[in-house]
Amino acid sequence: MMPFHRTCKEVTALVIAREDHVLPWRDRLALRLHMAICAACPTFERQVLTMRNAMRQWRSYEGLETPPGNADKPPN
Ligand SMILES: [Zn+2]
Repeated sequence: MMPFHRTCKEVTALVIAREDHVLPWRDRLALRLHMAICAACPTFERQVLTMRNAMRQWRSYEGLETPPGNADKPPN
């Protein structure tokens, strides 16, 4: 019926899966379409992207001699 329709549950799963591997174009398109019509999922996506950026910064810090001072909450 609606080949690119995804529920919010499926979309959140896709957003998380996208962090690990590249999604097929069908999933990417479905994701984009859902983001255009949904109020909740773009907010969730933004949180995931913020988290990803924070993790990336953390990883780049690992290569430095002096870590940043805000290391009160290590990832593990
Ligand atoms: Zn949604």
